[in-house]
Amino acid sequence: MPAPSAETFARLRALVAIDEPDERPSLSVIEVFTGEQLATVPVGTAEDVQAAVARGRKAQAAWAARPIKERAAIVERYRALVARDRDFLMDVLQAECGKSRSAAQEEVLDLLLNSRYYAKEADNLLGPQQVAGLLPGLVKTVVHRQPKGVVGVIAPWNYPMAMSISDALPALVAGNAVVVKPDSNTPFCTLVNAELLYEAGIPRDIFAVVTGPGSVVGNEIADSVDFLMFTGSSNTGRKLAEHAGRRLIGISAELGGKNPMIVLEGTNIDKVAKAATRACFANAGQLCISIERIYVQDSIADEFIKKFGDKVKDMKLGSTYDYKTDMGSLISEDQLKTVADHVEDAKIKGATVIAGGKARPDLGPSFFEPTVLTDVTEDMICARNETFGPLVSIYRVSGVDEAIERANDSEYGLNASVWAASDSEGEAIATQLHSGTVNINEGYGPAYGSTAAPMGGMGISGIGRRHGPEGILKYTEPQTVATTRVLNLDPPFGLSNEVWQQLITPLVQTVQRLPGR
Ligand code: NAD
Repeated sequence: MPAPSAETFARLRALVAIDEPDERPSLSVIEVFTGEQLATVPVGTAEDVQAAVARGRKAQAAWAARPIKERAAIVERYRALVARDRDFLMDVLQAECGKSRSAAQEEVLDLLLNSRYYAKEADNLLGPQQVAGLLPGLVKTVVHRQPKGVVGVIAPWNYPMAMSISDALPALVAGNAVVVKPDSNTPFCTLVNAELLYEAGIPRDIFAVVTGPGSVVGNEIADSVDFLMFTGSSNTGRKLAEHAGRRLIGISAELGGKNPMIVLEGTNIDKVAKAATRACFANAGQLCISIERIYVQDSIADEFIKKFGDKVKDMKLGSTYDYKTDMGSLISEDQLKTVADHVEDAKIKGATVIAGGKARPDLGPSFFEPTVLTDVTEDMICARNETFGPLVSIYRVSGVDEAIERANDSEYGLNASVWAASDSEGEAIATQLHSGTVNINEGYGPAYGSTAAPMGGMGISGIGRRHGPEGILKYTEPQTVATTRVLNLDPPFGLSNEVWQQLITPLVQTVQRLPGR
């Protein structure tokens, strides 16, 4: 197995040496492919969070006072540094997550796409917007966007750069300070990017990373910041929304999914079978938007199951730091156990294994084969619960109506994929799905990668959206400033109040009929 370059590990260890000055307890970070310790990071405390938030609060006004274009230019410089260091970033991602190099590349692309979009659009989206005032010519009304203050970002381990950094970029551009808590499995994915942000020109007090457990560091962030951006499970999302509710701060939460794919007559089955291997097993299925349920029209089901099953059996698993494998490892033995439990439960209750079904300790401590099941019934754990691993179930449906009904029969509503006889048929189905994103003729990439469009979940899959205008405006407080000129709202021209009050409603109605109102 070609290891990442010695230079990559030297760079990581140098970072730890700088950031680990005291004898506080440390957290071991594992190279997933081998199970060996990669490095350690300090276990942060509530006091660390308070100190980071206090530093951010103090520095934030000066950061917000800098012109939007200047903040955007720093993010654009960060983008160039990501492009310069992309091999290093992919090494770190693979080492900490055990993902394949193509899944690591997706994540680096996400950093590039978000930094470009928000650097380019910031001025348009954040600049003052003049809107129609109460009375034309007499009232000038302008909407300003004030930063929230200090934004907390709590991130998971599966796409740890995208979920910690891509979501922090718009908060920074909008003039906020940011305090990030990475997942304990993947702190370096955030720390190496923090170094790139500082190199690009983000002041150190404006962007802080505190490593440590969710129950301590995560809770304290939720209890200290002015806005919370959370990505993780729906259960943790509920708990954090309670914190936010008690404090009356805003929360944006990107949560779990049980994402459906619909495959209908008239589609190219060979093409779907191949694309479905990526849709279901990218990052070993540890992807909130990956497909865990496939609804296939009865008339093509046998052919699809055979072709998809064969493609899955052909997938190459391994732990190489190159593009030679299709799928890497799961993040941990805990995650492996969850997947194995779901598969075992389904097998015992009568599911048929079309492909995969076993752990692969010969490849590494946390490998599990990409697994395809049929004959999955409601009493099986994997029927409705998110597995968050390389497991997909195929169900036969009579046609479009049943496919839509069953796809929508879930508490989740994050992503869906549709393969139909024509694009227009796919588009007509898409708007009937209870799903924050829908991909037609693909699994998840095009909707997620369209950074100008909002991404997020319906139902228990989330609150709020990342990407697009929503992804930056949520980090601001809109402020309306109305300047009344020449006349104010007192009776004008010596009119009595009684006459003036009788004129007001007809006057407003006349204004409403003016062109452009
Ligand atoms: P998780 O909820 O267990 O942990 C996510 C983060 O929250 C981690 O940093 C963790 O330390 C922290 N945390 C855990 N408990 C906490 C608490 N009580 N208070 C404060 N912080 C706490 O989720 P996970 O297992 O790391 O991630 C997998 C889940 O994330 C899956 O459900 C997946 O679908 C979801 N996810 C969603 C998206 C999306 O965009 N919708 C993206 C990635 C992952």
